[in-house]
Amino acid sequence: MTRTCVPVSGKDIASARRMANSAISSGADLVEIRADLIPGADADSIKKSFSDILGVSIITLRSRAEGGKSELAGADRERWNRSALSLGAAFIDLELETDVAVIRSLGDKKGCSIVSKHLVDGWNPGLLSKTLSECCRLGGVGKVAAKVADVSDGVRLLGSRGGSGSTRFSLMGMGPGAELTRALASSIGAELVFCALDEDSIVAPGQLTLDSQKRVQPRNSTVVGLIGHPLGHTLSPGMHNAAFKELGMPGIYLPFDVPKDSMVGEFMRGAGKLGVRGFNITIPYKETAFAAVDQLDDEARRAKAVNTVLVQNDGSLKGFNTDIFGFSEALRTADYDPRNKRALIIGAGGASRAAVIALWKMGAKIEISNRSPERAEELVRSMRVFLKTLPLEALDNEKPYSLIVNATPVGMRGFESSPIVPERLIAGADAVMDMVYNPIETPLLSAAKPHGVKTIHGLDMLLHQGAKAFEIWTGAKAPVEVMRKELMGAIV
Ligand code: NAP
Repeated sequence: MTRTCVPVSGKDIASARRMANSAISSGADLVEIRADLIPGADADSIKKSFSDILGVSIITLRSRAEGGKSELAGADRERWNRSALSLGAAFIDLELETDVAVIRSLGDKKGCSIVSKHLVDGWNPGLLSKTLSECCRLGGVGKVAAKVADVSDGVRLLGSRGGSGSTRFSLMGMGPGAELTRALASSIGAELVFCALDEDSIVAPGQLTLDSQKRVQPRNSTVVGLIGHPLGHTLSPGMHNAAFKELGMPGIYLPFDVPKDSMVGEFMRGAGKLGVRGFNITIPYKETAFAAVDQLDDEARRAKAVNTVLVQNDGSLKGFNTDIFGFSEALRTADYDPRNKRALIIGAGGASRAAVIALWKMGAKIEISNRSPERAEELVRSMRVFLKTLPLEALDNEKPYSLIVNATPVGMRGFESSPIVPERLIAGADAVMDMVYNPIETPLLSAAKPHGVKTIHGLDMLLHQGAKAFEIWTGAKAPVEVMRKELMGAIV
């Protein structure tokens, strides 16, 4: 099993030791004494302060060239490392290019060395694989950390590890989106993974906290996440991580900010090969994901939009649309039955497609109005449904609908909130549903309330689409009430 290592430092050796105690009592397998970040740390002071835990310690004097703070060089650095080596710690970290002499003379101490390289100036697959091989050949454990530009780059990094020639390695990304490279450490068979004691001690972008890292320590952990761009603040990680925790199931849900449409398919396949179990898909990629998967369940095929992907055991991708279930459950929870009722959907994007299928299955008479009428027409054409479409301006002349659904971002916190449905129609409806879930009470729902109209908020849809996705990935029954509580707490 991959061992978790928490780097420890402080204003002096005593505070570094206190941090080490916290890490060990919180379940870290190893602590990394970052001597370059502890004023005055040398073999004597380390021996004095850490003697009883040297067996679970890594001693590291990271040089400036490799992203650390140590200025020691040449013979001084060599002397420092040799005396650290004599302390009998679990490991000493030696830099591939800085510590050549010490590495060459390791002899029977090779087993307790980590030979490392930080690729801070970029990398390519050839360089990565060659560097990791070299580190593994020369040290007990070979360690490479490399800068990644985004989550897709992280997948490329892990995918380039082939041929390192050792089972004892540590390979991690640093940078935006690098959390995935850490979450997959045990899945790729890494010996060590470095993580932060808590949120406040995250120093390298992409580090997970010890608590999160431990949740994916078993090799068969469920790693899933949300693909979108830009992701901003999302409620889904909190909801799913609460579910993993409640069920005591090893797993993590991460944000995957994939910057370009053209990268989505490649990212899903690459991440799936490395052990990621599935994805949620959000704006603007629901239609891209539809085209990128190998198989579709019936509802996703009808909607021509995918919000959930399962990586199947043979690596192929199966697309689902759990927004449809989420939407239906939200109506059911509100005790609103649309059978034979006129329903108006505003919007013609991925969310609108889910509402069309859900309402069609529930027997409603659906009409769609969209800012760009041609997109509504395209929805009707591509989904092969016979529905009336009308421009937003035409709503002024329409008879009341029983149900009005907002499937646009209008009313979302930080987005414009000008009314898109005439007040007369709101007042005449039996129910109004807003897919926007933050705030819970949107301007549309506030406008409906004084007229005694039933209001259905988007949070229930978010909850139920999430619960269904969780069940698809894990095969376990989702703890819906725990997930609801988490969502409510995150919004209020
Ligand atoms: P999308 O594919 O990007 O479609 C957005 C739709 O909103 C388009 O029809 C667009 O019209 C319309 N629109 C955007 N800005 C508008 C404006 N200022 N005025 C009028 N119409 C506007 O997005 P989506 O995936 O369908 O998502 C739509 C909303 O539903 C988002 O707020 C999303 O968060 C929410 N949603 C919630 C849940 C949930 O579980 N509660 C699930 C899915 C989606 P044009 O065609 O003219 O651009």
